[in-house]
Amino acid sequence: TRLTRADLDAIPAYVPGRSPADLARDLGMAEAIKLASNEVPFGPLPGVVEAITAAAAGTHRYPDLAAVELRDRLAERYGVPADRLVTGCGSVAICENLARATCLPGDEIIFAWRSFEAYPIVAASVGATAVRVPNTATHGHDLDAMAAAITDRTRLVFVCNPNNPTGTSLRRAEIDRFLDAVPANVLVVLDEAYREFNTDPDVPDGIDTYAGRPNVAVLRTLSKAWGLAGLRIGFLVAAPEVAAAVRKVTTPFSTNLLAQAAALAALRQEDEVRRRCALVVGERDRLTAELRKLGQDVPESQANFVWLPMADRSAAFGAACEARGVIVRPFQGDGVRVTIGTAAENDAFLTAAADAL
Ligand code: PMP
Repeated sequence: TRLTRADLDAIPAYVPGRSPADLARDLGMAEAIKLASNEVPFGPLPGVVEAITAAAAGTHRYPDLAAVELRDRLAERYGVPADRLVTGCGSVAICENLARATCLPGDEIIFAWRSFEAYPIVAASVGATAVRVPNTATHGHDLDAMAAAITDRTRLVFVCNPNNPTGTSLRRAEIDRFLDAVPANVLVVLDEAYREFNTDPDVPDGIDTYAGRPNVAVLRTLSKAWGLAGLRIGFLVAAPEVAAAVRKVTTPFSTNLLAQAAALAALRQEDEVRRRCALVVGERDRLTAELRKLGQDVPESQANFVWLPMADRSAAFGAACEARGVIVRPFQGDGVRVTIGTAAENDAFLTAAADAL
């Protein structure tokens, strides 16, 4: 007898990055460097730890279910009505809730591949069919092929801009054309987890540009640029009906007390966020140039990571970096994703990479 769904056996497990403490111990080093999970390396924003500490006195009570204060603050900051906003336990939980709100078993979810590794897991978890549309030769979404893949079973399309893990971005004209080709009963989710690192003026801000379209939803996270990965908080901007449906299937109180307090504090630090993002962008461009000098065909990234299209050599390169105390994220057969760290961390990676190559 089995108690759980047999089809779950086919779902790949979400692979977290290796712990730097474990690696340092194994290597007998003082510390290892983790450039594997697209975090920003500068610590919590000023005021965040204090806000969490103050909020902690209320942990015997449930938090505000709808995170009203935070929702209103996000509404003001992003210029959208509060009824279009939903917060969640990380944007990955919102991806799940979008699937639960749109798909019945046998429905289809389309996404580019390779893209964010949670999409196939999300599809499988609701019994939907994951339709992976291969990336172009230049590692970006093939939007024409994605539009062509839509059938009458398609409920949801994830468009990851910039794409995790390749860093490539879609420009305004391409997205406009794609959205015009998508039927009105298919929800397109623009996953903009890395939007704050964009420096290309031709890449549209999904909230400003598309949030008025009823079948477009925009996903953002406070895990990356805003430095709150450990607290799990993201948000969605969608049509009021979509937002309401997503709220219905969300685990109650999953935007927790400390996450709400921390997010409010972080949102008061936007100037500092901009400063940090500029540092990351400067390092990203340096790393791209250095890796290209090492012979790697690194696509232009608009995110806080770079992509090395190493195909079958990916796992070996990842292991070689790890043996030198730097944890990166290999996707065997495809490439290696390297998160931008501090300048010193990036130097350590470049030394390891030159050595490993
Ligand atoms: N979307 C994309 C494209 C991501 O890369 C990530 C994080 N790896 C997420 C969503 C989820 O982030 P979180 O759950 O921390 O908000």
